[in-house]
Formats: sequence, structure tokens, C-alpha cells
Amino acid sequence: MSTAVRGLTEAALAERIDALLPQTQCTRCGYGGCRPYAEAIARDEAAINRCPPGGEPVIAALAALLAQPARPLDPSCGSELDPGVAWIDPEACTGCARCLPVCPVDAIVGAQRLMHTVYAAQCTGCELCIASCPVDCILMQPRPAALPAPSAADNRRRYHQHLARLQRRAEAQAQLLAERKLAAHRPPPLAEQ
Ligand code: SF4
Ligand code: SF4
Ligand code: SF4
Repeated sequence: MSTAVRGLTEAALAERIDALLPQTQCTRCGYGGCRPYAEAIARDEAAINRCPPGGEPVIAALAALLAQPARPLDPSCGSELDPGVAWIDPEACTGCARCLPVCPVDAIVGAQRLMHTVYAAQCTGCELCIASCPVDCILMQPRPAALPAPSAADNRRRYHQHLARLQRRAEAQAQLLAERKLAAHRPPPLAEQ
């Protein structure tokens, strides 16, 4: 471990490691997202060469931080090549909206029963939306040359906004459920008794 991180708590070390990761939340490392992978590295339970989107530069940064030798990307995690951006076939999309909550950076736009589309500038290529589509109309296409992959800082900000949105929705649904349960126990109006 380098002198820069010696003496840090496990949580503080995980924070430093997480700061070096690309924040696509793609799970290709075998963990539920960048933060869980960072925590596993901090516990010395995961190797530093499991992040395909980060590739060689991230492995080198982690190696320097942790004073470990750099090593090639673990091929069992995937390829370092950019998987491109998701594209939704407008002819096939049914507007079911199942892909919306799955995208960690909210790059998919659309509403129930309306065609959905991917905002390519925000798409990290994590491929998490593909399996959510019941009609298999999400395809990966080469990233347009004019649209560089979003930065880790942008991915992190959008991911936190996404989590906050899901949290707000869960709270609103819980409140609605509580109100409906309460209403179900009210006595019926006098005229109906
Ligand atoms: S970007 Fe890297 S660290 Fe983050 S979830 Fe994907 S593989 Fe894991
Ligand atoms: S649109 Fe699909 S591939 Fe692109 S970031 Fe969202 S979930 Fe990942
Ligand atoms: S999951 Fe597929 S069909 Fe449903 S809205 Fe998304 S792209 Fe369209």
C-alpha cells in the first residue's frame, strides 16, 4: 500500500478507490457497481484488474494508489473496447417503460405507451438496459465520433441523481399505499350504512 493511503480506514480507502473508477455501474467487474467493487478492493478481496471500461489507465491508477504491480485486464470480465451506445428500434418499441429504471445514468427518455429513445451523449454503453426489454429492441451501435464517452464525473453525478429519483418514487409509493390502507379502514358514509 502506498504511503498516500496507509492508515486510512477501510471506508476512506474505498472512497479513494471509487474515485478512480469510471462510474458506469456496468457490473462487468462482478460486483453490483463501482462502489461495491471499490469496497471489495479495499478489503483486499478483489483484484485491481477487473474493470473493462476503465481498462489499462484505471488499472495503472489503482496500482499506483495501492502500491501493487499493474497487470493486464482480466479477460473473464470482458473487453476494454467501447461497447458503443444503446439504440432503440422505434418500429419495435412498445413503450412498456421497463428500460427506464434500469439505466444508471437516466440516458433513456420516454413515457408509458410512447416510444422510448436513448440520449446517446449520456449513454455509457453499460448494456444494462438490453436484458430489460421484453421485445429485444435495444441494440448496441458504434459511438458517434462527435460524441465522446461521458466522463466519470458526469456518470457519477447522473447516477446519484438516478438513485435520488428512485428513492423519491419509492417514498411516494409508500405514502400512497399507506393512505389507501387508511382509507380502506374508514367507516362507509351514513347513507350506505
Ligand atoms: S465501471 Fe468498472 S468498476 Fe464500475 S461497475 Fe463497471 S466494471 Fe465495475
Ligand atoms: S441506455 Fe442502456 S447502455 Fe446506455 S447507459 Fe443506459 S442502460 Fe447503459
Ligand atoms: S423496454 Fe424495450 S419496448 Fe419497453 S420501452 Fe424500453 S425499449 Fe421500448
